[in-house]
Amino acid sequence: NGITLHKQSEYVWEITQTGEMRSPARVFASEKLLSEIGDDDTLQQLVNATHLPGITKYAICMPDGHQGYGFPVGGVGAMDTTDGCISPGAVGFDINCGVRMMRTNLSYSDVEGREKALVNRLFETIPSGLGGGGVISGDRKTVEAILTDGMKWALANGYATPDDLSHCEDGGWRPDAAPEHVSEKAKNRGEKQIGSLGSGNHFLEVQRVTDIYRDDVAAAFGLQPEQIVVLIHCGSRGLGHQICSDYVRKIEKGHPELLAALPDKELAAAPAGSELATAYYGAMCAAINFAWVNRQVIMHQTRQVFAEIFDQSPQALEMELLYDVAHNIAKKEVHTVNGRDRELYVHRKGATRAFPAGRKEVPEAYRTVGQPIIIPGSMGTGSYILRGGENSLALSFGSTAHGAGRVMSRTQAKKQFWGETVRDELEETQHVYVKAQSGATVAEEAPGVYKDVDEVVRVSDALGIGDTVARTFPVCNIKG
Ligand code: 5GP
Ligand code: MN
Ligand code: MN
Repeated sequence: NGITLHKQSEYVWEITQTGEMRSPARVFASEKLLSEIGDDDTLQQLVNATHLPGITKYAICMPDGHQGYGFPVGGVGAMDTTDGCISPGAVGFDINCGVRMMRTNLSYSDVEGREKALVNRLFETIPSGLGGGGVISGDRKTVEAILTDGMKWALANGYATPDDLSHCEDGGWRPDAAPEHVSEKAKNRGEKQIGSLGSGNHFLEVQRVTDIYRDDVAAAFGLQPEQIVVLIHCGSRGLGHQICSDYVRKIEKGHPELLAALPDKELAAAPAGSELATAYYGAMCAAINFAWVNRQVIMHQTRQVFAEIFDQSPQALEMELLYDVAHNIAKKEVHTVNGRDRELYVHRKGATRAFPAGRKEVPEAYRTVGQPIIIPGSMGTGSYILRGGENSLALSFGSTAHGAGRVMSRTQAKKQFWGETVRDELEETQHVYVKAQSGATVAEEAPGVYKDVDEVVRVSDALGIGDTVARTFPVCNIKG
């Protein structure tokens, strides 16, 4: 593709600033991951991202990076909030897509032999798939309260405990939310989807802890070998998608001069300080709140299912939220750049916040060890828990990877894999029980469509942006 990468140091590659680029770009990857990243338009999209006004230091591609809408998935871009911009394409369509992990005091031997009962009940109790409803059928007032209050709404309505809020990024609430900037159409879509996984890549997975790499941090996170944990991955459903579509269109129309200066229309951005920048930021924060409630309500249902199957209360089973973290988001954050504190719109699209010990945003329970980071791998490999590394603020605006990252398109996956076969093999050879709304989903999400998560996490750890704490392996999994 004609883009030259200069090796800066181990796992750090730079694309030199030339022409209309406003900054250099950096890729964090091993040679093996780099060869996969180079296969599609990821690097061109990364270069395009450096054309965004106010881009600070460099545009970043994480080791799990791949091509996305305009801006790479696995991309980080920090734009100044005074003379920079905000770009919906650099957040992603599924606003606050993210992951949460819940601990239990069960161990694998408690669950062995009961996987089928568990997966069936989870599948019946947690709505999934493209259409379908949610756990809660909300009216307009409910949706607006959720958009405004995030997890505070869940607490007030019996779906959350105070500890759930204190173990969530930002306490599960973005005060900057502005529901008045969310369209009627988006709110309508939200009404029917409160507490629903959605389709495709979204899932709920019961896992067991297989490896511990840092004993002290694992202890602080409440993790031990053979322990059963639950990983929930989903976002803001149709509501967030609608907000992204609405604002991409509005911004394209409202800021044609900026659009014309960008190499790709899909990067459409609103200049900092403009009405559209303020409106999009407020609407996006509202969608962030919605997604947190969505994951919270799903976790609430999961607690009920475990209580039923294991005949003990969620409290007795110590079903506590370890952490919830977004991986499609833009937030105003203060970062030190060349010795000066600056407020930036940090866009993390398919990238996870990874704040180190000491930073005030890290929940009190973890402030001395660093923020928990959750990186899913696939339903046939492993997933990881990391903690924010010492170098993350200097290297990546406090960010790391968000998954293994795709290597194969969904279309290609459906040619290469057959859902039922994938499912049967997982069950027979790896004792992983999968239940999905459609066979096509299982094929599209087959372990073979993803990169090597071990390698992604190894790079993160070696760079000191996110340090490995523990590894998990799937027990059972439900998807859309
Ligand atoms: P995304 O948010 O980009 O759709 O996905 C995040 C990551 O989740 C993917 O890069 C992939 O590594 C991981 N993933 C996808 N499906 C599954 C699954 O069924 N189980 C687990 N543990 N991880 C998955
Ligand atoms: Mn998503
Ligand atoms: Mn996601």
